[in-house]
Amino acid sequence: MRHDESRALYDRALSVLAGGVNSSVRATQPYPFFVERGDGAHVIDADGNRYIDYVMGYGPLLYGHDAPEPVQAAVQKHAAAGPMYGAPTEIEVEHAEFVARHVPSVEMLRFVNSGTEATVSAVRLARATTGRDKIVVMQGGYHGAQESTLVEGGPEGASPSTPGIPSSFAEHTIPVPFNDAEAVREVFEAHGQDIAAVLAEPILANMGIVHPVDGYLQTLRDVTEEYGSLLIFDEVITGFRVGGLQCAQGKFGVTPDLTTFGKIIGGGFPVGAIGGKAELVEQFTPGGNVFQSGTFSGHPVTMAAGHEYLKYAAENDVYDHVNRLGEKLRSGISDILEDQAPEYTVVGTDSMFKTIFTRHGPADRDDLCESGCEQRESCARFDYCPKTGADVSKAETDRWERVFWQEMKDRGVFLTANQFESQFVSYAHTDEDIEETLEAYKEAL
Ligand SMILES: *Cc1c(COP(=O)(O)O)cnc(C)c1O
Repeated sequence: MRHDESRALYDRALSVLAGGVNSSVRATQPYPFFVERGDGAHVIDADGNRYIDYVMGYGPLLYGHDAPEPVQAAVQKHAAAGPMYGAPTEIEVEHAEFVARHVPSVEMLRFVNSGTEATVSAVRLARATTGRDKIVVMQGGYHGAQESTLVEGGPEGASPSTPGIPSSFAEHTIPVPFNDAEAVREVFEAHGQDIAAVLAEPILANMGIVHPVDGYLQTLRDVTEEYGSLLIFDEVITGFRVGGLQCAQGKFGVTPDLTTFGKIIGGGFPVGAIGGKAELVEQFTPGGNVFQSGTFSGHPVTMAAGHEYLKYAAENDVYDHVNRLGEKLRSGISDILEDQAPEYTVVGTDSMFKTIFTRHGPADRDDLCESGCEQRESCARFDYCPKTGADVSKAETDRWERVFWQEMKDRGVFLTANQFESQFVSYAHTDEDIEETLEAYKEAL
């Protein structure tokens, strides 16, 4: 596989783009391949190499690189007609109506331009409507590049995880380990009256994929209700990916007060949204007094793409297809691990998947969750399956990044470049793609 063009492009990029990229995860070692175009479930790089793509833009591309015809038509139409105005349009209303109709907790929305902007605005809204400053987050959870959640540490004290954030910001954030009901109860016993919200991904999806243990999300619901705090689910990845059109909250049967969206709801264009109870969301300006605004928010091209994306999923076998292939991939990998790396853990659900390079496993592999860890207590792997972000960090993360990822790339399979980010099956993937991918796993693991 030659990479001369990509190497030359990266050389140029390093002179004019910070680190040669516009999002840090893209700077793979020793240099990234530059994409020339997509083709269904594949991407083709600047040197003409073709890869089966499971990065899928880090989540948005439910259909792969060829959007269904109605999506493409709507994008063309709205791009040609405007593309934007600084005045409201019908497509924003239609998209909001669709989301509110399908997602259990959502009555009203505010669209923004990224997942980051959604979580920033949701935290501001929670603080404003409760009159409290503290927020509880999950260690290893990711909510974008926002000041309140880029923290490290534990319940006893958090500090900023990057230079450039005053430590006084982190004082208001309380990180707790995911899946630890006792830890979150203790935090509420100590600080409950000051906690505006718990902000959590229902599945940790930027940290190896960690499934919630039975009852954990309900504990978050109960404890926030008890103390008059809000529960915010960050469904930027899981929204319209896990649980189909009702999202992860529908799948798990736990209804948050606020939900943040991004990725899929923009149909491949920049997007974010905050949804929830009307009495909360209408507190944003101009209805209420919690400032929120954006030049590009509710951009007609994005709204049209997102709306046609979801409508197509409602009218076709999209989730059946991606979930079936997701399961086929996860159980195929699971079979390979049994022979080649029994200590590793297959994780993921619906169309999300990952293999965590855990260092230990049970001797007896009978009765395990064949198609991805569901945190079943009866499973022989239960005690070995990562429950928290810290558990994932203890895996062989270097092996993924420096050996395995490269080996898969050389075999024409594009995975996320580190141990932590989820991978995705799209509607464009086929059974043959999955079989080819499993062959590559067999050789690379
Ligand atoms: C991707 C992601 C974000 C950030 O979204 P951006 O659009 O990259 O700002 C926030 N939360 C979760 C759970 C995400 O996966």
